[in-house]
Amino acid sequence: MYIAVDMGATKTRIASSEDLSSLLKVKRFYTNKNPVTQKQIISSGINELTAGKEPAFVCFGVPGAVDRQIGNFVKVPNYKEINGKPFTALLDEKYLGNAFVENDAALGAVGEAILGAGKDFQRVGYLTFGTGTGGALVVKKGHGEFGYESGEPGHTIIVPGGRVASSCNHAGCMEAYTSGHSFEALFNIKPQNCSDKGVWAKYAEYVNLGLSSIYMTWKCDIFIIGGSMALEYDLFSEFLKAPVPVVRSLTLDDAGVYGGFVLTKQILSSR
Ligand SMILES: [Zn+2]
Repeated sequence: MYIAVDMGATKTRIASSEDLSSLLKVKRFYTNKNPVTQKQIISSGINELTAGKEPAFVCFGVPGAVDRQIGNFVKVPNYKEINGKPFTALLDEKYLGNAFVENDAALGAVGEAILGAGKDFQRVGYLTFGTGTGGALVVKKGHGEFGYESGEPGHTIIVPGGRVASSCNHAGCMEAYTSGHSFEALFNIKPQNCSDKGVWAKYAEYVNLGLSSIYMTWKCDIFIIGGSMALEYDLFSEFLKAPVPVVRSLTLDDAGVYGGFVLTKQILSSR
């Protein structure tokens, strides 16, 4: 039994799989702001899905950057409590020998590129707009293999000298204009309650600035939009403009756990 954990700043999903391409069971819950409690909830969730057995492998996504050389979380702007802490701050020691920790947006990108809307494209640009804005580029190499580059596309500057998101210190970065949190701060309304076309057109303008700038480095064949803002995709898709097609994520909330299993498959086959 394989386990994938996709921990976002707001929501966490834990899934089990036998074949590394379909989900057996999924548990979803709100991310606990206390890492000690969050770690306990994750451990008992894994235990429940494996019926107490040792999982064959755990792929673990976190909302930030990781340093696998030293085994630390390094830059987690939307869950600062674990910044600089070892992986064991969230993942039980007993899983560490057979685990891979990665940025959650990178997992989402891999899931969408291989099993979702990016299936038929070679260079897949995935952007997730949720609590924060993140993403990754997935490049397929043939024979089912792929590489990916996560970086921090969400912190691309789109409005020089512009507003600062609560999560980082970059004036005018994409996250400060396109994340769910920033939407609320900018337009004084929760995205799920907004039906004002003018607001959505303005929101899309910011997304477009990010897409055209990120395209210059990624040169992707398609952009896929994921994260909680993708649930409102129909409200702003007509205003989106990019050098390549833009589509909505197919696996939506499950992109990260799908990606966790796809990545596990590649890791295990290269061993
Ligand atoms: Zn930023």
